[in-house]
Amino acid sequence: NQDEDKLTEYMDELEFLAFTAGATVQKRFTQKLTQPDSKTFIGSGKAQEIKEYVKENEIGTIIFDDELSPSQLKNLEKEIEVKILDRTNLILDIFAQRAQTSYARTQVELAQYQYLLPRLTRMWTHLERQKGGIGMRGPGETEIETDRRIIRDRISLLKDKLKVIDKQMATQRNNRGKVVRAALVGYTNVGKSTLMNALSKSDVFAENKLFATLDTTVRKVVIGNLPFLLTDTVGFIRKLPTQLVESFKSTLDEVREADLLIHVVDISHESFEDQVESVNNTLMEINAHQKPMIMVFNKIDGFSYDKKDDDDLTPSTKKNVSLEEWKKTWMGKSKYPTVFISALTKENFPEMKKMIYDEVMKIHISRFPYND
Ligand code: GDP
Repeated sequence: NQDEDKLTEYMDELEFLAFTAGATVQKRFTQKLTQPDSKTFIGSGKAQEIKEYVKENEIGTIIFDDELSPSQLKNLEKEIEVKILDRTNLILDIFAQRAQTSYARTQVELAQYQYLLPRLTRMWTHLERQKGGIGMRGPGETEIETDRRIIRDRISLLKDKLKVIDKQMATQRNNRGKVVRAALVGYTNVGKSTLMNALSKSDVFAENKLFATLDTTVRKVVIGNLPFLLTDTVGFIRKLPTQLVESFKSTLDEVREADLLIHVVDISHESFEDQVESVNNTLMEINAHQKPMIMVFNKIDGFSYDKKDDDDLTPSTKKNVSLEEWKKTWMGKSKYPTVFISALTKENFPEMKKMIYDEVMKIHISRFPYND
């Protein structure tokens, strides 16, 4: 049963990703296998079932929640006769759509080519290729027919280009001097940009879609006369394509080089605990898990609950636990300073600002010990 809940959450997230990419989901298919089929990922019975559904309902695309191997992709497309996307391709597509700066565009292009290279033989030649559909934006669209050598050259060119920009960005970071640097981290869509806007009175793009933020934004924030730099970073997500983790080096460097992490959590999301874990794992991977951190539990205004019965007026979550009860669990007992806010209604903002001020001050004092 717990497994089924997980599965539903994963599928919800995938559907949200598909929505962000511009697709409407018609139907979900799931299958229990002890291990994926090496040739087609799913079993042949399931493939047949999907094929029939696709034919009957004129479905344009099938999306898988996992990354498929190049041969699995090829075999499945042959068998089901429809365009197939895997999770990695879908995420890359969203990134391609949203990259704003030339840096982000270069990063995404590199990641797309790296994804494309082993899959070049595919090319959907036996299918009628719609132009500009999901998964077809970016390099795949115009250059899919070019040969591997050209793509390899392009990859090394992009890598060189990124190296140059990485250096420039490192210099920029160095030039920021000794001003304390805080970074907003958190799962995608938890409200980091909204919080950034609220704290810096700037206008960062916030949207109820995944990955509204691709490029890092750095803003100067002043709380009680104490200035510091605040960075909004790309949202973390479960199973982030490895190509992207690597190519978003500078984005992650912002986190790695921050003095203070502000970990934002969306407690109105039913799997927020998993999201926290996923973010913590990424922080561990980039060796940033030992930094000072503040836990900001956001969206308390959207904290939903099911009443046990109609006479029961105490709020409780979907798991029938009230926010007050939650606060007594690990959330309230965290070794980090913890605050519960709404970035939308600004509830508990004074408390959060005080907390950030205290942490920034601590770092500031350790840096300028002789100032008074
Ligand atoms: P990011 O991906 O972490 O930067 O998240 P965004 O700042 O783009 O916010 C994602 C969505 O959550 C947007 O639709 C916001 O309006 C919404 N949001 C952010 N903070 C709150 C909050 O405190 N309460 C509610 N109800 N929604 C919020």
